Amino acid sequence: MKVAKFGGTSMANASCIEKVKNVVFADQDIHYVVVSAPGKREKTDTKITDLLYKCNDSIKYGQSVKEAFKPVADRFYTIIEELGIEFDISGEINTIRKNISEGASLDYIVSRGEYLSAKIAAAYFGWDFIDAIELVKFDEDGNFDAELTNKVTAKKLKGIKNAVIPGFYGVLPCGSVKTFSRGGSDISGAIIARAVNADIYENWTDVDGFMKCDPRLVENAELIDVLTYKELRELSYMGANVLHPDSIFPVRKSDIPINIKNTFNPSAKGTFIVPTTHFFDGKYKREDSIITGVAGKKDFIGIALEKSMMNNELGFGRRVLNVIEDNGLSFEHMPSGVDTLTVIVDGHKLSEELLKKVIFEIENVCEPDSIHVIRDLALVAVVGHGMTSKSGTAYKVFESLAKADINIKMIDQGSSELNIIIAIEGKDYEKAISALYNGLV
Ligand code: ADP
Ligand code: ASP
Ligand code: MG
Repeated sequence: MKVAKFGGTSMANASCIEKVKNVVFADQDIHYVVVSAPGKREKTDTKITDLLYKCNDSIKYGQSVKEAFKPVADRFYTIIEELGIEFDISGEINTIRKNISEGASLDYIVSRGEYLSAKIAAAYFGWDFIDAIELVKFDEDGNFDAELTNKVTAKKLKGIKNAVIPGFYGVLPCGSVKTFSRGGSDISGAIIARAVNADIYENWTDVDGFMKCDPRLVENAELIDVLTYKELRELSYMGANVLHPDSIFPVRKSDIPINIKNTFNPSAKGTFIVPTTHFFDGKYKREDSIITGVAGKKDFIGIALEKSMMNNELGFGRRVLNVIEDNGLSFEHMPSGVDTLTVIVDGHKLSEELLKKVIFEIENVCEPDSIHVIRDLALVAVVGHGMTSKSGTAYKVFESLAKADINIKMIDQGSSELNIIIAIEGKDYEKAISALYNGLV
């Protein structure tokens, strides 16, 4: 039995949804389908989820709910009209508008893309619709409650042969909607796969599989046939956003493989993501290679501290990290020297105001000789089990970057030897990804 999740790229308009139906109806093993909100129809288009965030902002700035919600409602009306189905969604749209007028939360508003998308797909397939609030549970602190969710979902789906379920959200104990982070429908699909003990979790998108690097940066990037859960986490956390990095947690409990597939080229076999390297046999055989893939992200900020005798000062690092934590930030890396230490933080989470506050507090509690901010850093990672206990990978990484005339700002390799992460200037990002791909793949 299979669970299939279709991303926004597969739900973008009626002709895509028709392809989704063809995929689903061609495989009797697919019993449960999880859908995202409609994504972009072309490059310059806006995803429904982004329209919903905008809708929330517009209402805050005084626009009427009717006007603010109109672009979203119009897209769904168009989809239904083009699908040519007898399905009246106006009641749902009116209820959503009313709830927003009465002060519904941001999470409720942005979850409505998935809700309406699943309603339409269920009507189009002639399948049951099951709301994610009946299945996916969060606790009072807003943390996902994996075990309760699994119990409730397994029980609920037991007597239901076929159903469409919206991705991206669930419910808090108080009954309010709570969303996962962006791209979270991938997690929802994995949750359903675990609950029904699926043989495989199919994740359908708009590319033939997981490529060895972002296909938008390197043309004709090679496809990865098989990768492990760990490699997936490293690559997707570092920016290969084909699949949400947290998608593996639910399926990991039952060792369910994930298969990335292309809705627009369903015969391509796609990429398999398997629990461990022990699965690299038979069906999941893969060629030996030193690295599995390259990924990266931009917009990091380094806070660099210098203090004489830092190495002798007990608790210096802890005090710096306390300030980072007290300000609701997490650090990505912390390279250090004898008298220097740099904390690297995601720039999207650090406004100018917050940065000033953090610097002020570090100056107070650590009294460094100097503190300076390194802006516009990018991180690039080469990932792969193949480099474990082998020499020469780092050499090739540095050689590739040097040949491309790229200056390295920081180097980090985890003890698992699964990845090498390099910080560079943001301006060199695209050049670095393609240099590493060409040098190592
Ligand atoms: P969906 O709407 O199906 O969730 P996403 O946009 O979230 O799709 O993910 C698919 C996109 O991820 C692809 O269109 C591609 O541009 C991008 N992408 C980034 N890195 C990679 C990679 N290494 N391999 C494949 N696709 C990648
Ligand atoms: N629609 C949500 C987003 O755009 C969730 C998802 O697509 O997975 O982030
Ligand atoms: Mg996605």
